[in-house]
Amino acid sequence: MADGSLLFLGTGASSGIPVIGCTCVVCTSSNPKDRRLRTSALIKYNGKNFLIDAGPDIRRQALQHQINTIDGLFITHPHYDHVGGLEELRVYNFIQKSAIHCMLHTESLEEVKKLFYYLFSPSIEGQNHTSQFDFIPVTNQTGECNFEGLQVRYFCYVQGNAKVLGLRIGDLAYFTDIKSYTDEIFEFVKGVKTLVVSALGFTPSRVHLTVEEAVAFAERSGAEKSYFIHLAHEIEHNYVESLLPQGMHLAYDGLEIPLRINDDN
Ligand SMILES: [Zn+2]
Ligand SMILES: [Zn+2]
Repeated sequence: MADGSLLFLGTGASSGIPVIGCTCVVCTSSNPKDRRLRTSALIKYNGKNFLIDAGPDIRRQALQHQINTIDGLFITHPHYDHVGGLEELRVYNFIQKSAIHCMLHTESLEEVKKLFYYLFSPSIEGQNHTSQFDFIPVTNQTGECNFEGLQVRYFCYVQGNAKVLGLRIGDLAYFTDIKSYTDEIFEFVKGVKTLVVSALGFTPSRVHLTVEEAVAFAERSGAEKSYFIHLAHEIEHNYVESLLPQGMHLAYDGLEIPLRINDDN
């Protein structure tokens, strides 16, 4: 039985879909599944909310899905489309009267410190300054920890100049912004039932898998079901969905899928 779920808050590439100024068939499509906010997801487990990334659309995503508390935040890597909305999470400090627990790679933390330098300046005298985040940096390439009651395994890979955190939570593996990886990743995903992996489009990219490459990755993972995210405007939902092999799907904003998270699956 499912004891958790994954809600796709956004499934779009870094510009979001529609792309500003673009008049292509996808950007002008009337199909809601062709409208994609920046990639982010919410894991619900045991009454808790765990957010994966907080891009520039996070305020809208939180309002739309009534995300009123956040128990943990994963930052996969520090590119704008994944961290641009961190400052929006300040409201949760007021609601919850505590810092947000945030798991990320130590190299990502260094970048976040540069991007949001003012969050790290000493508190101004006379102001009741609550630190916005309680950062829990990981330094290893792979590892396991209990994060606010959620058993998490992680596996790092490199995208361009950034180290990206891949996650394994229960029967789910989640990899965004992936292009290069070592074969150990298939050891890491062994036994997962649900795979979430990014697939930018059809044009080869230096920093993202194409749809074809993502299909090959999903096949090799052995997952029963795979969902593709971080989709660019080359991907028209209904058409591309119809081309995918059985068990593989394009994720879309607002889709929620069941997960089994407890260790004794
Ligand atoms: Zn991205
Ligand atoms: Zn377009």
